[in-house]
Amino acid sequence: MSGPYSEPRRERQGSGYPRAMHERDGVDEARLRALLDELAAEFPRFRLVRKDRSFVQRSIARLLALTTLGAQRSYLDRFVTTIGQRVYVPRHWERWPAVDRCLVLRHQRVHLRQFRRFGLAPLALAYLLLPLPLGLAWCRMRLERDAYAESVRAAAERWGFAHVCDAAFRDRILAMFTSGAYGWMWPFPSSLRRWYDALLASLPAADEG
Ligand SMILES: [Zn+2]
Repeated sequence: MSGPYSEPRRERQGSGYPRAMHERDGVDEARLRALLDELAAEFPRFRLVRKDRSFVQRSIARLLALTTLGAQRSYLDRFVTTIGQRVYVPRHWERWPAVDRCLVLRHQRVHLRQFRRFGLAPLALAYLLLPLPLGLAWCRMRLERDAYAESVRAAAERWGFAHVCDAAFRDRILAMFTSGAYGWMWPFPSSLRRWYDALLASLPAADEG
C-alpha cells in the first residue's frame, strides 16, 4: 500500500537534474491537478492526509521500525501509504516536485482500486499477513507488483522508455521487493527480473526500440 518517493532525492538536486525537467514544471503542475481531479471523481471519499498528523500512522511507523529492526525507518518521511480511500503523505509532500507527486499518485491509484475491488479488511489482511508478514509475503508482492508496474509506466511516459530500461532504475524498483522497505516481501531477484523484463516488453515504446 506504500509507495516510496519515486527516486532518491539527492539525484534530483544539482547537476543530476536535467534542465529539461525544470522546463516542464508547468506541464507537471497541470498534470498533477488533472490527476487529483480524476482521483476525486473516481473515489468520492478520496483524501490526502498528512502522516505526521495521524496517530495511527505514527504508530505504524514505530511498529515498522521495530519489526524490521530499523530497516524501515523512513515510513513517515519518504513513503506514501494508501488505506481505503485515504492517501497518507509525508509532512513535506507539498514541497515535492509535481512530477514526483504525479508518479506516486499513479502508483497509489492502483492501490485505491485494489481496496475498492477487494474491500478494506480482506485486502489489509492479505497485504500484511499472507502467507507471512515478513520474508515471504506473496499477496503483498502481487499487490505491489501491479502498483509498481504503473510506476514504471508513468516513469516511461514522463522520461522515456530508455529511462526505465536503465539497470539502476530497475534495481531501485526491484529493491523495494527484496529489501526491508516492505519487510523483504519477495527476496527472489531473478523472478523479479523476469517480471520486469516482461513489463518492459509490454510498454508501447518497446516496439520502437
Ligand atoms: Zn504500493
